[in-house]
Amino acid sequence: MPNPTATTLPDARGRFGAYGGAFVPETLVGALRELAQAYDDARRDPAFQRELDRTLADFVGRPTPLCFAPRLTELAASRSKTGGAAQIWLKREDLCHTGAHKINNTMGQALLAKRMGRTRIIAETGAGQHGVASATAASRMGLSCDVYMGSEDARRQRLNVVRMRLMGARVIEVDSGSRTLKDATNEAMRDWMGSSDTTLYIIGSVVGPHPFPMIVRDFQSVIGREAREQCLREWNALPDCVVACVGGGSNAAGIFHPFAQDEGVALVGVEAGGRSTNAGDHAAPLAFGSPGVLHGSMSYVLQDEHGQTADVHSCSAGLDYPGVGPEHAYWKDAGRVRYTHVGDDAALDAFVAMSETEGIIPALETSHALAHAIDLAATMQPDQRVLVNLSGRGDKDVDEAARLLEARQKPAQ
Ligand SMILES: *Cc1c(COP(=O)(O)O)cnc(C)c1O
Repeated sequence: MPNPTATTLPDARGRFGAYGGAFVPETLVGALRELAQAYDDARRDPAFQRELDRTLADFVGRPTPLCFAPRLTELAASRSKTGGAAQIWLKREDLCHTGAHKINNTMGQALLAKRMGRTRIIAETGAGQHGVASATAASRMGLSCDVYMGSEDARRQRLNVVRMRLMGARVIEVDSGSRTLKDATNEAMRDWMGSSDTTLYIIGSVVGPHPFPMIVRDFQSVIGREAREQCLREWNALPDCVVACVGGGSNAAGIFHPFAQDEGVALVGVEAGGRSTNAGDHAAPLAFGSPGVLHGSMSYVLQDEHGQTADVHSCSAGLDYPGVGPEHAYWKDAGRVRYTHVGDDAALDAFVAMSETEGIIPALETSHALAHAIDLAATMQPDQRVLVNLSGRGDKDVDEAARLLEARQKPAQ
């Protein structure tokens, strides 16, 4: 049985128990080893930490606030059998520059790229959020930046394509496969195989071969470290439960990791349940997948009986990925984190409820976590507290949400 509170993972081979590792072509082994070494040096170097902290404060806008959601709490109470509910609190990553948590990681990795003497970064992007965060970091640090994006995604997310180009990045549209995130990731990896002496691949979540899941988790853990301190200062206590949405799993890993050893704190990850539990209709590998290798590491993957990666669906582009970070697979098996899933409809309801009650339009990704948090709070006591990672703001989603809400009002054929 794995130790659910281990903080020393991954091990020297990049494993989180049975998961993780680096299943890559020979040509990438050297680049990954060099990255692991450079990262190990950087994290022990107080000057690197100081520069990172300063960038996060001055440019990203950290620390982000911890704030109470009084009217969302009332809504949860109105749905409870007892008329009371746990207090819902928010960690406001939507207030980070560019509107989501992703920039915590891209600023860290871009600093690392500079330290390694690289002049170019590349990234993959689905909805365009990680691409925008990478282009932002590159612009700020004077690095050149190429972003791989499926042509189908580029069409659906024009605004983010324009934002990336405005900041000087080149957006390379990928026409292979389903022309979405999975295909863009393949192309970015292929680029890096031939360019690693000048280029750092900035991966967008806690996925990919070792050392990426560890590096991204560490850069995102600033969320949980801040939140833990803020809870202790504000309440003199820790939250009863922490809830986060899980796509690749970076915002969840970032807020969970600093609480992993606090036995009294329940951790809940929320995957995208999509439109049904049938294969192809959701993006919930921890719920419905099985162990396999995708993009260089072993984790839960949605796949058919031949090991071919399955199609996925979610109303939120940021959760629309058939894999998940290996540390989440480990936490699931160890029983440290409970994983559940929320469908498109319930997420859309939470998107509306949050906007109406708190004056915050959340990202559709985040709305999955909010939907579960409301239900959960309704089963708890008023002296308890649920902390939700508000991973991003929803400006990018208002057109899509309006379209879905309108479709819902039409009577069924
Ligand atoms: C990209 C994104 C996610 C999903 O990615 P994780 O790596 O699972 O965090 C969640 N929320 C927002 C706002 C995003 O932009």
